[in-house]
Amino acid sequence: TERIENVVCTFCGCLCDDIVVEVDGGRLVKVLKACANGQGHFRDYDPSPRLPRLRGKEVPWEEAYAEAGAILRASHSPLIYGLSSAPTEAQRRAVELADRLGAFLDSTSSVCHGPTGLAMQAVGEPTCTLGEVRNRADLLLFWGCNPAAAHPRHFARYATARGRLTPQGRKDRTIVIVDVRPTAATKGADLFLQVRQGDDFELLTALRALVQGRPMEAPSVGGLPRERLVDLAERLKTCRYGVAFMGMGLTMTRGRDLNVAELFSLVADLNEHTRFSVIPMRGHGNVTGADQVTTWQCGFPFAVSFARGYPQYGPGEFTAVDVLARGDADSVVVVASDPVAHFPRRAADRLQALPTIVLDPAESLTAASATLWMPTGLAGIDTAGSSYRMDGVALRLRPFLERRRPSDEEVLKRLIEEVRR
Ligand code: SF4
Repeated sequence: TERIENVVCTFCGCLCDDIVVEVDGGRLVKVLKACANGQGHFRDYDPSPRLPRLRGKEVPWEEAYAEAGAILRASHSPLIYGLSSAPTEAQRRAVELADRLGAFLDSTSSVCHGPTGLAMQAVGEPTCTLGEVRNRADLLLFWGCNPAAAHPRHFARYATARGRLTPQGRKDRTIVIVDVRPTAATKGADLFLQVRQGDDFELLTALRALVQGRPMEAPSVGGLPRERLVDLAERLKTCRYGVAFMGMGLTMTRGRDLNVAELFSLVADLNEHTRFSVIPMRGHGNVTGADQVTTWQCGFPFAVSFARGYPQYGPGEFTAVDVLARGDADSVVVVASDPVAHFPRRAADRLQALPTIVLDPAESLTAASATLWMPTGLAGIDTAGSSYRMDGVALRLRPFLERRRPSDEEVLKRLIEEVRR
């Protein structure tokens, strides 16, 4: 049995890089240190070679490439969607393919942290790395997220971990959670503030006023009494190094990007008093990479149209759900994501009625109903690549199993060649 250390789990944006795996006879036999989500990520993947499936029938790879090329060449308005669970190198190829096709290009960011991108562009994002959280932060504020379910090792690796300036780990930190209801994570908090659904913006505005030393006349905001807000503002101002983590409870509720911009502004205000940063709790393993790559390739993080021969940005217009719901796409390439399982019914139904090419290591709902499913390898298990952690740090993904499937990058390269033909 071969023991391999420091393997990266790419299931969620934590990208835990301390996973240990044991391989025997070319098969994965043990996964250590990963949470239940990570265990599933490693164990559910079957790396054995698979043939693509075209209209329900297995076909050789060459036939699949030719058919994919025919679909894309015949298409006037293709949509390329997903990217967030694919490695950086494949994301780059997806942008190239979209450019060549004059396609819409969108990632899962548009249905999770798209508002975070808009807020960052509006007011800036005072951020830091998770290494700083571990070594310096003595106050952590979680807003609208439940790390116990979505990022199960986040607490252990950062909130309770011993760091250079936090030698006693959890004892050296104050954990504050703001959410609309108690969750598994709130049990581990020092302070839980239950905000009324949809009132995050008002609460953040009140906190900004208090941090700026302005009087607050309202007896309560967002269902929370003034005294609790005064107490929280004081804690935020007087900590040594605070970090706010925010999730879809903030981005996908009333106010969306305005909520996030207000939180980013609160963090900026706090830097008048102490050191404070913010990190979005990104879900998919390389959704941060999707934003990064799309931005450095074409200037915008998501919701891009290449239809005019140059990239145009249109959140709410060129986002996949909107493109599909309006019936503007006539073919779809899905890279490592499952929109049929997650999109609103109207958009999912439209997608299923179109010629669809799916690159995915597993047979998702979208793959099951696709015109063509191309079963690719999984970066970090049997193919190489790189991914961006939620704090924007890029990590190398080293394969530990023999590769018997093409990578997402290879398939996308072949699709580009087919389109050129
Ligand atoms: Fe994998 Fe996320 Fe669990 Fe870490 S917290 S092991 S990255 S699923």
